[in-house]
Amino acid sequence: MAAHDCLFCRIIAGEIPADIIYEDDACLAFRDLNPQAPVHVLIIPRQHIASLSEAKQTNEIALGGLLLAAARVAKSEKLSEAGYRTVINTGAGAGQSVFHLHLHVIGGRTLNWPPG
Ligand code: AMP
Repeated sequence: MAAHDCLFCRIIAGEIPADIIYEDDACLAFRDLNPQAPVHVLIIPRQHIASLSEAKQTNEIALGGLLLAAARVAKSEKLSEAGYRTVINTGAGAGQSVFHLHLHVIGGRTLNWPPG
């Protein structure tokens, strides 16, 4: 997919506004437009990877960076003590609607298990 066809690549490029709360060389974190909890942040790699299924060994460091960024965001959003959930929906059947890999950080309320 070309970058101009990908919503999240366009957010990275600054073409579409987003409420960005963290960024580094490898990833960007911004608030979800349709939050499912008081805190709902998406963390995306700057590099376009369509889904977790498409990730390659060469993406290993970027993938690790997403998890470390999630912990950093959770801490800055004051979720670390109460707990939070990190979710990667992979494929349409699992609810993935944007095909640029992203990790949801969800918290600020009680989270039930199993998820729907
Ligand atoms: P998923 O369903 O796992 O692919 O998650 C995609 C997420 O992107 C959903 O939670 C949407 O609410 C969110 N989303 C879609 N467009 C935007 C946008 N422009 N800015 C922020 N979040 C968005």
